[in-house]
Amino acid sequence: MRYAVIGIGVAGVSALEAIRSVDKTGDIVMIAEDPNGYYSRPGLAYYLTGELDGGTLYPRTKEHFESLNFRYVKGRVTRILRAEHALEVDQKTKISYDRLLIAVGSMAVPLDVPGAKLEGVFKLDHMEDAKRIVKSAKRGKTAVVVGGGITALEIVEGLVTHGMKVHYLLRGDRYWSNVLDEHESRVVEDRLQAEGVKLHFHSGLTEILGKNNRVSGIRLKDGSTIKCDLVAYAIGIRPRLKLAQEAGLTIERGIFVNEHLQTNDPEIYAAGDVAQAYDPLTERSILDSLWTPAREQGYAAGLNMVGKRTAYLKSAPFNATRLAGLTTTIIGAVGGGQDDDLVGIARGDSETWRVMPDALVAQSGFDINRLRLMVGENRLIGAVIMGDQTLSMPLQKIIVGNLNISSIHDKLLAPDAKIADVIADFWTNLKNKP
Ligand SMILES: Cc1cc2nc3c(=O)[nH]c(=O)nc-3n(C[C@H](O)[C@H](O)[C@H](O)COP(=O)(O)OP(=O)(O)OC[C@H]3O[C@@H](n4cnc5c(N)ncnc54)[C@H](O)[C@@H]3O)c2cc1C
Repeated sequence: MRYAVIGIGVAGVSALEAIRSVDKTGDIVMIAEDPNGYYSRPGLAYYLTGELDGGTLYPRTKEHFESLNFRYVKGRVTRILRAEHALEVDQKTKISYDRLLIAVGSMAVPLDVPGAKLEGVFKLDHMEDAKRIVKSAKRGKTAVVVGGGITALEIVEGLVTHGMKVHYLLRGDRYWSNVLDEHESRVVEDRLQAEGVKLHFHSGLTEILGKNNRVSGIRLKDGSTIKCDLVAYAIGIRPRLKLAQEAGLTIERGIFVNEHLQTNDPEIYAAGDVAQAYDPLTERSILDSLWTPAREQGYAAGLNMVGKRTAYLKSAPFNATRLAGLTTTIIGAVGGGQDDDLVGIARGDSETWRVMPDALVAQSGFDINRLRLMVGENRLIGAVIMGDQTLSMPLQKIIVGNLNISSIHDKLLAPDAKIADVIADFWTNLKNKP
């Protein structure tokens, strides 16, 4: 059997590992264009701040890859020739396959304003972008960052670490309003302001101004201008669909796949950011843009490719991240989803969050250590944990494991409930049960 995998992201690599765990002798070829191979994209935030060097970003060793015994082709797949069961690489070489996985991920939505092509304008899709940003960041100079989700904030923090004066433009009246509540947004904003970041609410960029083909400033929609040396944006992502589109595969918002990650062509699978996967539990087709679903989809796709029928079952969304230096875990359904202009921007955003059932909200705010729980009838639907992470593991287990919390339901919703203590007691009792 000849397997081909396009993309050396987490979905592609997980598929490779799954294939090799079953088929020890089949011929596997992986084709990818990223010059840096496999690395943690979420880790790029820490690369920007200088906390992780390039080396630590690589989750797999050379020895591990060698043990998988596959052929690696560095190049760009330019066409999928379905009738021939072959791929065209860099418009010349042909590679044949019996089973193919498309795991080409997503890319930043480009900034569509005059001046967007000037030198000094950046996005953050991959390691090369991160390197470019670090190289251009200069102490004492000014940057403008555009975008409402985690990636934009990561860029802001990276630039601040490099000593830049940062203007951060937000379209709405607060940060990441489709996931965070008002209090949480303000916690993040206050911390940014304390670091010297200038926040501009209700503002949009209409033009990037340049001198000698380099960024010299920006114009806002109210006509005012800000002088700056660098502009960075993270205004959304979109799946890389061109290859699948040209090959005539069924596409909606992503490549349409069933719960076995199989496209309308039974020899071709898709996984990760590029795939819109059917979830048998909710009976919906979901486009995720998160590391864990990409890994799980890739692994399930690999097993299906070797003939081991495995359904991909989406688990509750889980994202551990850092917002303005504050460790934040977001589990399950937490947002209201009123702010449509942020859809697709938020890393850590999952569509499940926007169709959440009616939920009661219990809140407990202790300055920066904030815990917010979404309490359903018999179970917890979601949680936001900012700062102290003691409860994050128990909450993950309770929410993802769908545990019955009816015994503490009323306690959680009682006026002035000490919800952290209630959860801690519940968890201790559970663990101590014989
Ligand atoms: C800055 C940043 C921060 C993030 N933070 C988080 C986070 O905190 N939490 C979280 O859960 N997720 C986060 N994500 C999202 C997460 O990284 C993605 O969901 C995940 O990497 C998707 O994996 P993938 O394998 O589908 O695609 P990718 O990792 O994008 O890999 C796609 C691969 O395909 C290759 N490729 C594309 N087109 C071709 C072609 N035509 N020919 C050959 N090769 C091709 C690319 O070079 C690449 O190797 C972040 C992403 C970024 C960029």
